[in-house]
Amino acid sequence: MNESHYEKTAELYGKYVMPTYAPKLLLTSGMGAMVCDSEGNEYLDFGSGISVCNLGHCHPKVTAAICEQAGRLMHVSNLYMNEHQPRLAQKLVEQGFDGVAFFSNSGAEANEGMIKFARKWGSDKGRSEIIVMNDSFHGRTLATLAATGRSKYRQGFGPDMPGFKHVPFNDIEALKAAVDDKTAAVMMEPVQGEGGVMPAGADYLKAVRQLCDDNGILLMFDEVQCGMGRTGTFYAWQGYDVQPDALSLAKALGNGYPIGSFLVKRELANVLTVGSHASTFGGTPLACAAACSVIDTYVEEDVLENCRVMSGYLFGKLNNLVDKYPCVKEVRGRGLMVGIVLDREAAVLLPEMLKQGVIALTAGENVLRLLPPLNVTAVEIDTAVNAIEAALKAVC
Ligand SMILES: *Cc1c(COP(=O)(O)O)cnc(C)c1O
Repeated sequence: MNESHYEKTAELYGKYVMPTYAPKLLLTSGMGAMVCDSEGNEYLDFGSGISVCNLGHCHPKVTAAICEQAGRLMHVSNLYMNEHQPRLAQKLVEQGFDGVAFFSNSGAEANEGMIKFARKWGSDKGRSEIIVMNDSFHGRTLATLAATGRSKYRQGFGPDMPGFKHVPFNDIEALKAAVDDKTAAVMMEPVQGEGGVMPAGADYLKAVRQLCDDNGILLMFDEVQCGMGRTGTFYAWQGYDVQPDALSLAKALGNGYPIGSFLVKRELANVLTVGSHASTFGGTPLACAAACSVIDTYVEEDVLENCRVMSGYLFGKLNNLVDKYPCVKEVRGRGLMVGIVLDREAAVLLPEMLKQGVIALTAGENVLRLLPPLNVTAVEIDTAVNAIEAALKAVC
């Protein structure tokens, strides 16, 4: 019966769903770091969706907040106030970024808004161009696609929206050479995700900040993946002590309930004014109640501290693999955003790991990417590392 449930669902996908993905298992329930498929098999989810369920699946506090709010008020337009939107903005500010927030539904939309913010800011200065990084990922809308460094995502969707200039990541001289009197902003991920789990160098990021200050231009961080505690601090920039002028969040903000946001620092709070940007679904009471409970739970359960401790534990175990398996070149990342760099395509490891009951991700071509929930336990890490080792034995 379960098998037919799988087959029936796969058939419906084949017939009725646009084939932009090639999904594998049929996942039907989850709790904490575990997900269950239609045949009753359990998997340890070391992707957390894609860094979405940072508190694990169906965290009881978040589920309760969503259920309670869903029974009270799900949606009002932004022509009216709701209780939770300003509470959420305040919580985001209290995590260490003094400014104001705009709410969207996704990461791409948050970045779109941030790009519009930069253009609006530059419009009376003759500055409209945004410098972005090679190997970056900013989303699949036309503007965020043009900003994205990985050209394979852009193929077939030309012409690219103008106004973006790409430079190599972690190369301050290339960035210096690219800045001119048309530049409005530099937009980048402090830790690149899709591009291969590549952290910015600490000196580089400080130099980027200095360069932006010297030229009077904006520094904007896409923290859609690396934010929300993923790297061990609530905002990834806090781990570098390099504060941007604007930043975007999404993925883990609702722990699975869709919501995105971009924040700008307080001096720039009035760049976007009444009527200049909008979203029907942005910042609904339901989405904001979910996200408020996420941030409250981070604080109540000291999730960031667990992330930092478990990061040390995970890196320690993974570094042993570098010496043991010649096909493992390097382990890199920050916090619980981890890349295991191989000398071959990382995707070959995934089916082997699945056999061991562990879900992981890839990034770039040759990087195995781990994004466990931030409340992961040492026992769960042991299980995942054993699965990686079994996969390496099978493949390398
Ligand atoms: C996932 C991601 C996005 C896009 O987010 P969506 O919610 O899929 O639109 C943008 N930037 C980064 C860094 C991401 O990882």
